Amino acid sequence: MIATGHCDSNRTVGRFAPSPTGPLHLGSLVAALGSYAMAKREGGLWLLRIEDLDSPRVVPGMTDDIFRTLETLGFQWDGEVLFQSRRADVYRESLDRLLREGAAYPCGCSRSEIARIATAPHSGDEEPVYPGMCRAGLPEGKAARSVRVRVGDETISFHDGIMGPVSRTLSASGGDFVIKRADGPFAYQLAVVVDDAESGVNQVVRGADLLSSTPRQIHLQRLLGCATPCYYHLPLVTGPGGGKLSKRDNAVSLAAGRDLVREGNRLLFDALRFLGQEPPSDLCGASCGELLQWAVDFFAPETVPRIPGQFPSRSRDPGRGGE
Ligand code: GLU
Repeated sequence: MIATGHCDSNRTVGRFAPSPTGPLHLGSLVAALGSYAMAKREGGLWLLRIEDLDSPRVVPGMTDDIFRTLETLGFQWDGEVLFQSRRADVYRESLDRLLREGAAYPCGCSRSEIARIATAPHSGDEEPVYPGMCRAGLPEGKAARSVRVRVGDETISFHDGIMGPVSRTLSASGGDFVIKRADGPFAYQLAVVVDDAESGVNQVVRGADLLSSTPRQIHLQRLLGCATPCYYHLPLVTGPGGGKLSKRDNAVSLAAGRDLVREGNRLLFDALRFLGQEPPSDLCGASCGELLQWAVDFFAPETVPRIPGQFPSRSRDPGRGGE
């Protein structure tokens, strides 16, 4: 079955869901801008969710830093901010339901045990397939560590608004996956599905690093009876050599080495161009508000590139022609 999403029939509800494990970086800027423009061009809502489930990795002060950065860039979110760290009870309900229905099971395996037994990952897959040692019940002498959800052999297909058709057979890519981690927190995959459904999110626009998570999330949506949103995965920002962004490339912070109040508009202009949009050059010196309004009026997902790319050089002066 192809998941087509349901954002045509309802008011669009999009969201931006940063993790406060570090400051916003160029990739976050692209995700914030893309999700904002896509939601607002359809007269929709743009929600903000702070994904602070992984408490050991949360950096104190980062949530406020994210709010400040978004505000400085002119982004205004709708409604109350949702904090995942305050929602354990809600995730627990869905987890209990999946356990009760036999769709999920306690798992006593450690990572190293799995790595020893699992077959090598299929090409392109980032994880080995869970070999299913605890699928039929915890083996004697093993204590539960995590909770996994069962996956079947069917292929999950969906149409991504940017990347096109995507198909994945979960049993061949990672297999049964963790929805409650051995170290305590509910896993991202479960939380994101529960939160998006509860907030009425019907349009998910985010970085392509999460493309491989989407079939898992669709699987959970089906098990929990939640609608599948429309998906748009944006190209990743790479460093100069095509590899991951490094500190020097400002992967670490949008604000590092720049005054966002003065240069935020230039960043937004460049982010639009990174996303394949063509804001007129006379908008180079425009305010953040004007650039965001242009994005809302003219953002075209059809021209967003599918491949990762470098962020336009920040040393360029957009006041002198943009290119
Ligand atoms: N919290 C994730 C991140 O910062 C994004 C999750 C999502 O958009 O689904 O990369």
